Amino acid sequence: VRHLIVVLGDQLDPRARPLVALDPARDCLWMAEVTGESTHVWSHKARSTLFLAAMRHFRDACLQAGRPLVYHRLGHHPHGSLAEALATDLARLRPERVILTRPGDHRVLQSLTRVCDSAGVPLEIREDAHFLVSLESFRHWAGRRKQTRLEHFYRHVREQMGVLMEDGEPAGGRWNFDTENRKPLPRAGPGMLRAPLGFEPDALTREAMADVERHFPDHPGSLASFDWPVSPEQARAALEDFIDHRLPAFGPYQDALWTGEPWLYHARISAALNLKLISPREVIEAAEAAWREGRAPLASVEGFIRQVLGWREYVRGLYWQHMPEWLEWNALEAGEALPGFYWTGETDMRCLAETLGQTLELGYAHHIQRLMVTGLFAQLLGVRPPALHEWYLAVYVDAVEWVELPNTLGMSQYADGGRMASKPYVASGQYIKRMSNYCEHCRYRPDQAVGEQACPFTTLYWDFLDRHRARFSRHPRTTLQWRNLERISPERLAAIRRKAQDIRTTLTGDRT
Ligand code: SF4
Repeated sequence: VRHLIVVLGDQLDPRARPLVALDPARDCLWMAEVTGESTHVWSHKARSTLFLAAMRHFRDACLQAGRPLVYHRLGHHPHGSLAEALATDLARLRPERVILTRPGDHRVLQSLTRVCDSAGVPLEIREDAHFLVSLESFRHWAGRRKQTRLEHFYRHVREQMGVLMEDGEPAGGRWNFDTENRKPLPRAGPGMLRAPLGFEPDALTREAMADVERHFPDHPGSLASFDWPVSPEQARAALEDFIDHRLPAFGPYQDALWTGEPWLYHARISAALNLKLISPREVIEAAEAAWREGRAPLASVEGFIRQVLGWREYVRGLYWQHMPEWLEWNALEAGEALPGFYWTGETDMRCLAETLGQTLELGYAHHIQRLMVTGLFAQLLGVRPPALHEWYLAVYVDAVEWVELPNTLGMSQYADGGRMASKPYVASGQYIKRMSNYCEHCRYRPDQAVGEQACPFTTLYWDFLDRHRARFSRHPRTTLQWRNLERISPERLAAIRRKAQDIRTTLTGDRT
């Protein structure tokens, strides 16, 4: 074998350069399904199934295209990790070189590099051309600034790529349409929503589901509703379905939350993007075309493109800039355990029960459910950042570390001390009340911080402001939020502190 081309479970782009350049007479693809990738965090059954099903569809497409392939199926080989499986094959196949597209996980890059080093086989790391901004360009952009904020990056990339631009100016005269976007739904709710396009599991996917049930029977989550796209064709159909039916209302309601409506107007393509079943370029072009053809308003299209072209590329750049140190940061010195109900959904807080329930059922929650329900609660409670990071990485079908880690440890938990977000994203139960109908079905009252019906979010919010007063009360972006704390009497604040400690003790067993 001349080149052994390693393809990981989140690198399933049939048009990737190493595949296109493969010489079937001399080169060979290499893929392995290993238990370690489902157990290094306690992976949701839908997440494991999605990876396995998509890998097997990719494998069959490669074989059909005449690309030679070594493929290790779960349960059909003795290796627990990618590193072990690769080490064995390097000894057996003795390739001249291993080619690896940069993995989405620092841990995997380290372990595969070590394997090749010990085997004495040169390893060539290729940059991942799926992404629109190379790591070198990101470093160049970031290197010139004191702060690396999304808004600056997003404008820079839009200008550079000419996305939603007209005569050198942003379309519509503005970069940002947040004032039109991010609204709650009308109080009557969204009405009858058309169900998003789902994909009935075919024989290959059903086999992957059975393997996951066999190998990981006690893992969290359900497969009963599994209908994610597992091939490039399905990913494209999912994108079209979104553009045609949900994109027009995506902008205004992207932050809205509603009982029993896990999808609302969201795209359902993040997992397909992260497994590289579809390219961000294709997604952005389809969204922009919908606006140019008058099929979707600019505010919605801009809001959506900001997520894909801005946020997604931005978090990836930051991940590689700050790994592995990011894993160690804990700027707010949070030390609590993750409450057990994150794995079961069993809580009387409606917003959390709803978000966790759909997470366990579907492996999905949208960005505000993640940021302002599960993430917010963990931050207010003071959960240890690595515990929360492992939970997010485990339970979402689209979770690959490069995207999950910065979202959790940076944006959501402020564990990086503000390298990513200028301030902690904290709010009380009143925010959830404004953006959802969850509170209407809850035994707690979002406007109450003490007493029997006190909303734990609201109690913990004031307690958070109090605990971090010294750090943020004079911070220019947060002064206003902290100034409200001054209006609370010492007696009331003492009662809030006691209530917060009760919540902490009950939920995490903390005795401090
Ligand atoms: Fe969540 Fe509090 Fe609203 Fe209940 S009252 S749903 S706990 S925000």
